[in-house]
Amino acid sequence: MFVASVKKVLESSVQKYLKTTIKSASFSAESVKTSTDHRYVVVGINKSGSKSDCEQLKYPLVWLRDNCQCSSCFDAPTKSRIIDWTKFDLKNAQPKSVSINKQLEVIWKDDHVSKFDFKWLYERSFTAESRQKYLDNHYRPKPMLWSKEQFEMKEFKAGDVFENDEALYDWLETLARYGVAMIKNADLTEDQARKLANRISFIRKTSYGEEFIVRADPNATNVAYTSNLLQIHTDLPYYEYTPGVNLLHCIAQTKLPGAFNMLADGFHVAERLKKENPKVFKCLSTTLVNWSDYGADGGTRFETIQRSPVICLDYEGNITRINHSIPQRDTFFSVDAEVVDEWYSALKTFVDLLHEEAVYFKTEPGDILTFSNIRLVHGRTGYTDTEGNVRHIVGAYIDWDEIYSRLRILANDKRMKR
Ligand SMILES: [Zn+2]
Repeated sequence: MFVASVKKVLESSVQKYLKTTIKSASFSAESVKTSTDHRYVVVGINKSGSKSDCEQLKYPLVWLRDNCQCSSCFDAPTKSRIIDWTKFDLKNAQPKSVSINKQLEVIWKDDHVSKFDFKWLYERSFTAESRQKYLDNHYRPKPMLWSKEQFEMKEFKAGDVFENDEALYDWLETLARYGVAMIKNADLTEDQARKLANRISFIRKTSYGEEFIVRADPNATNVAYTSNLLQIHTDLPYYEYTPGVNLLHCIAQTKLPGAFNMLADGFHVAERLKKENPKVFKCLSTTLVNWSDYGADGGTRFETIQRSPVICLDYEGNITRINHSIPQRDTFFSVDAEVVDEWYSALKTFVDLLHEEAVYFKTEPGDILTFSNIRLVHGRTGYTDTEGNVRHIVGAYIDWDEIYSRLRILANDKRMKR
């Protein structure tokens, strides 16, 4: 068994090596020059060996010097830059000569020599098209937002996701694109959410521990246990690093009416606001709200507070996170009293729209509902537990950093297999 698996690993690494070699061999260059302003090297790179494929690609000299791949500037085993920046002189990032043979070779003013593979250069090209390709294909899958009408639950079999890397990739890619996916037919044991998280990396721990169990107290027999409506919300908005994804494993579901899951794509609703009601969008994306959790769990007390808008944007104006929770919004609202009315009215508009775009469904025993906690809002309609008919859910969180990392590793493995 051991010998066989080692053999398999060896075979696959040989195959990988061969395929990489063949791929890099198809890149060549036919021209090189420095730009007249002495800021760039322009290389004519051929992707497939045919002349019609030649692209004139422009690389800033300072970037080339910083990214020298020689062993004193770059540590290959850790893929890390080790160039000494205390001695790095930007003015020295000027070449004595540039030439192409099997690689681009730059001899710098201080006689340091840098060599770059054409494939390596091509992949790192600064063209808008190349940068976008990297962002969409390698950095993160591009989100596909959905309205209530467009919603369709994508399903994956637990057995496949647990056993097979292709299925794992498909699930995670779906989760990244649509923000939600359902795992079907998991075992009816409390270890399944952890098992799923471990397929990616590890559970994200919070003040409440690792797994959390949602179940009526079994000792409260003969007394009907009512669980009220859980309004749509995002979990733990009071964390600066809020958990990225919820895994909700349904072990037992009430057979009585109610207990429907509600989900809405908060990014889609925010985009709608941006177009239909820019004033509301601006108010919700620029007003800092105090989110908080005051409590104790397992003897540890906490007072977690974080300020951020309902709609969070990055520097490019992309929506990066939705915060919404009626119970976890603090009574302290550290803004000018003048803006409060407008903010409340904006929040009401947003919440009404979230409800308008919400979809409803009921999970079955064996389902693990997985969804983005920074993009979707979720809730549950009220239900009643009775004896022998008790809803039992095990939940856990996992972070997007780990998911994206796993996706990239799986995508690299897929490319190698091709
Ligand atoms: Zn170097």
